[in-house]
Amino acid sequence: MTQDWDAGRLDSDLDGAGFDTLAVRAGQRRSPEAEHGEALFLTSSYVFRSAAEAAACFSGESGGNVYSRYMNPTVRNFEERIALMEQAEQAVATASGMAAILATVMSLCSAGDHILVSRSVFGSTVTLCEKYLKRFGIEVDYVPLSDIAAWQAACKPNTRMMFLESPSNPLAELADIRALSAVAREQGALLVVDNCFCTPALQKPLTLGADIVVHSATKYIDGQGRCLGGVVAGRKEHMQELVGFLRTAGPTLSPFNAWVFLKGLETLRLRMRAHCEAAQALAEWLVQQPQVEHVYYAGLPSHPQHELAKAQQSAFGAVVSFELKGGRDAAWRFIDATRLLSITANLGDSKSTITHPATTTHGRLTPEARAAAGIRDGLIRLAIGLEEVADLKADLQRGLDAQR
Ligand SMILES: *Cc1c(COP(=O)(O)O)cnc(C)c1O
Repeated sequence: MTQDWDAGRLDSDLDGAGFDTLAVRAGQRRSPEAEHGEALFLTSSYVFRSAAEAAACFSGESGGNVYSRYMNPTVRNFEERIALMEQAEQAVATASGMAAILATVMSLCSAGDHILVSRSVFGSTVTLCEKYLKRFGIEVDYVPLSDIAAWQAACKPNTRMMFLESPSNPLAELADIRALSAVAREQGALLVVDNCFCTPALQKPLTLGADIVVHSATKYIDGQGRCLGGVVAGRKEHMQELVGFLRTAGPTLSPFNAWVFLKGLETLRLRMRAHCEAAQALAEWLVQQPQVEHVYYAGLPSHPQHELAKAQQSAFGAVVSFELKGGRDAAWRFIDATRLLSITANLGDSKSTITHPATTTHGRLTPEARAAAGIRDGLIRLAIGLEEVADLKADLQRGLDAQR
């Protein structure tokens, strides 16, 4: 058992270590085999030396491993690494990003509670609220992401949670997380930030006053489009509630996926830096194209929240959206003319992707709701990967040439 074995000098001393060092080494506890790479514990259960030891593990008295729905050393390695990278007391891994959001609400909210949700959140998050949470007696209202006064005005005595993504998808709007955390504190509500688009490499919401961070690890934490997973990070008192829910209900992370994510984290900052540099270059190039009406990217000085983005993020992310003159036909013609970009709604991959939000990710909204969300028919979303910028530019040029 891990706790009986004195790791001695086999493990790294990470006292005072910086972000990149934590990303490579944190959370690893070497087994008696002294493996250099993180061990992958693909096991559903654990054995005991005696009946008495089994009893001590089951009662929680010894803290030993019992069953992988309860705990797994590879998953724990991932959780401990993320906790340090997000500057959280504790992190808890889940089977997917949606499982992270579900577990957060199920663990910390009850029937009769009210949740405020940003209008610009992931589609499945809205479906979770509308179709399921409401059925179990949780009230949900939606607020424009960047409008602090609107969040304040929408608070009710039973508001228990405020939930947002910043920057938003696909229009790169931001929330002032520090200002919203003051609103949440005054209300006695928990501020939950889905940090999927930035990752802790670009933004640490807990240091800005948020109470809880959630992630779809499926995106940039994996970074290469292989595994589904999620993680929630925050204070111990809240994370212990999540641990209880996940152990009982079961949407826990597979150790195999945790191992893949550990490898992803080792290169997270390097990848994010490359993603962001390429996105900035392409956004600046797109602005100059006559066929393009508007570019949505917080790295552009013309973006209304450019200063806020500089203050709360260390870079501007890899999602660049733009409005093409000519509506849906122009957008589809553009997408169909590309030959390198993948036509898919995914993001956070080394492969760049191109999406038409109005007919895919936001296709189920009514035209009115789509208009309210600012998703017009000529809008195209790019999630910039890690290919050569020149090749991406040449591919986008094909889309522009198709407009003639
Ligand atoms: C993808 C995504 C999710 C859901 O994550 P899954 O891992 O697909 O369940 C949640 N929030 C955001 C912002 C996402 O992009």
